[in-house]
Amino acid sequence: MSDAVTLTGLQAWVRGFAALIGENKEQLTQLDAAIGDADHGTNMDRGMTAVVAALDGGASPPSAAALFKQVGMTLVSTVGGASGPLFGTLFLRIGTAAGEVTELDGKGFAIGLRAGLDGVVARGKAEAGDKTMYDALAPAVDALDEALASSAGLDTALAAAVLAAERGRDATIPMLARKGRASYLGERSVGHQDPGATSIALLVRAAADALR
Ligand code: ADP
Ligand code: MG
Repeated sequence: MSDAVTLTGLQAWVRGFAALIGENKEQLTQLDAAIGDADHGTNMDRGMTAVVAALDGGASPPSAAALFKQVGMTLVSTVGGASGPLFGTLFLRIGTAAGEVTELDGKGFAIGLRAGLDGVVARGKAEAGDKTMYDALAPAVDALDEALASSAGLDTALAAAVLAAERGRDATIPMLARKGRASYLGERSVGHQDPGATSIALLVRAAADALR
């Protein structure tokens, strides 16, 4: 078992996320129908389909920075709504943190994901408990860091991150939304799972599947 995260692995992560979004787009849209405007699944699917088309249609990005810049810019330019800039920023920040490298180790990957989380916060100002994608992403990044700090391998650490993201996603159900479109509903947002947090759980699951 090696903790090396290659460019091939990172591309597989992005492509795997696109596939999971495609498989789950109806559910994501249903969740957004309950507390938003019923477009989260189509938004994310449009963006990730464009990301895969760009990867298929061009030369392979030569570095992690180039790969994630391409992914982030594609999401920002093809996805309207809150999730385009937020997921776009997430990937752009991962790329900036990773740099012009063709390989990362587990810690480098975790540093990238933490930078992505910081970017989401800088952009959307979400805090814990606001019922957003933050509530799945922050616990996942924390779990990844904790596991790696206690000398777990990347596969074990990513498995812990998946569990944390899914728990965080489920924990959004009883929350009252304080950010984004769902916050307009006030008390009526309670009792529904946040769509963006659901997409984050898919993102982390795709990482665990691709980076082993
Ligand atoms: P829109 O709300 O513009 O229709 P989407 O439906 O694609 O965009 O995305 C909605 C998701 O975006 C929410 O479920 C939530 O997770 C996330 N979101 C909205 N606002 C914020 C914010 N300020 N910070 C973090 N995430 C947010
Ligand atoms: Mg929406």
